[in-house]
Amino acid sequence: MPQMHDATHAAGVAGTQLHRCVKGHPLNPVSMAAWQEGWSVPRTQSFSQVRKCKICKHDIPRNWVRLGCEKGCQDSVCLNLNCAAKVLDSAKRELAVKHRTVAELETALLEEESLLVKEAAVDSLRELGTSAQSATPILEKLMLKEISHKDDRFQGTSSSRNSIRHTFLANDGTHPLLEYQGCRAFRVKVAVTLALLRETRVLEDALLGDDPDVAGRPEVREAAILGLAELGVQGRGSEAAHLIERLGLALSDEVETVRIAAAHALRCIAPAGVTEAAAPFLVEALRDSEENYNMAPESMGGMPIRKWQDAEGRRLFELDLVAALSCLGASANAAAEPLASRLASTKQTSAMRWAAAEALAQSGALEELRKATEHCHRPGKTDILHPRPKPQSTSVIEEVRRAAQTTLERISVK
Ligand SMILES: [Zn+2]
Ligand SMILES: [Zn+2]
Repeated sequence: MPQMHDATHAAGVAGTQLHRCVKGHPLNPVSMAAWQEGWSVPRTQSFSQVRKCKICKHDIPRNWVRLGCEKGCQDSVCLNLNCAAKVLDSAKRELAVKHRTVAELETALLEEESLLVKEAAVDSLRELGTSAQSATPILEKLMLKEISHKDDRFQGTSSSRNSIRHTFLANDGTHPLLEYQGCRAFRVKVAVTLALLRETRVLEDALLGDDPDVAGRPEVREAAILGLAELGVQGRGSEAAHLIERLGLALSDEVETVRIAAAHALRCIAPAGVTEAAAPFLVEALRDSEENYNMAPESMGGMPIRKWQDAEGRRLFELDLVAALSCLGASANAAAEPLASRLASTKQTSAMRWAAAEALAQSGALEELRKATEHCHRPGKTDILHPRPKPQSTSVIEEVRRAAQTTLERISVK
C-alpha cells in the first residue's frame, strides 16, 4: 500500500492523497448506474445514500461517471474541471516521489493500478520528449488497450457495480458513451504523446486499420486522430501530410466522435498548408451535414438513420470544417454554395455566420459575399409538414448583411 506513513498525519491518506481512498486504493473512473440497494448491501453503500464529491461536496447523480474506489469504499470525486485537476495534481506528486527516469516511468505505466498515476506518467514522458522514445511499445499497447467496463467481479449479475450501459455523459444525457471520460482522456493523452515523440507510424497503423482488432474500434481511431491534431497545434502539421486523405475519409466515419475529431484535426493541421487533398472531403462533409438523416439501403429496411445525436458536437464539427476551408484559400472555391447557405440560412449561430463569411472571402467567392450584403428573405422549399415557412426575422437578415459587409470591407482594406 502506497505511503502508509501518510495515514499517521492528521489529515490521513485522504487529506494528502486525493487520488486515493482512505484505505489507499486508487480512485478510477466508475459508474454506479447498476449499484443498487437490496439484499446484503449495507445501507451505507446503497443508493439510499447520495454520494458527494469529497473535494467540492456536491452531489454526484447516480448515473454519472465519477472517480471512485473499485474495491467498494465510499470515496467519490466528481469530474468537474476543478476537482479533476486537483486529483491529477495529487497523482503527479505521488509519481514524482517514486519515479523519475524513463525506465521507472515505464514500470509505473505497466504496474500502477491508478489511472491517474499512469496519466501523470504519460505527462512526464511527453515532457521528456524524444529521449523517452524507448517507451513507445508500452504507449502503443496502452493506446490500443481495450477497456472493458464490464470487467468486474459482479460481471453478469444484477449488482454489477461498474456498468456503462446506463451511464450518461455528465451534463448531457443525450448520447451513449463508448468509454468513461477518464479512460477516453487517458487514451487521447497517450496518442498525443506518441505523436510528439515522432512516432506517427503507430497512429498511422491505428488509422489505416489493417489490424482487425483495431479496425472496428472508434475510440482508437478518435484518439489517433486527436494525436495528429496535436501535431498541428505544435506547428508540426507537415509531419501528418501523408495522412490527410485518411483524415478526409474520417469526416464521414460512421461514429460521430470520430467525425468530430477528424474535422478538428484538419482544422489544426490546415495552417501548415498540406491539407489541399482534403478539400473535396471537406466540401462534401459540409454539404452532407445539412441533413441529419441518412436513408438506409433498401436491404436494411430503407428507414432514415439519424447521423448526429450530439447537437453541440455537430456545431463544433461544422465550425471546424468551415475554419479548415478558410485556411485552404482558393482551392476551396467548390465550397462557395454550401458556405453561402451557412451564412444566410435561419438556424445558424452567429459564430457560424461570421466563420462562413470569412471562408467565402478567403476562397475568393466575393460574388457570393456581395449577394449576401443585400440578403433578404427568400421563401425556401415547402413540404407537406411546413407548407408556409416563417419568414426570416429582421435581426437575422441584418446579421447576415453585417457579416458579409464587414468581411468584404476588411479584405478590400488589405
Ligand atoms: Zn467535485
Ligand atoms: Zn478503497
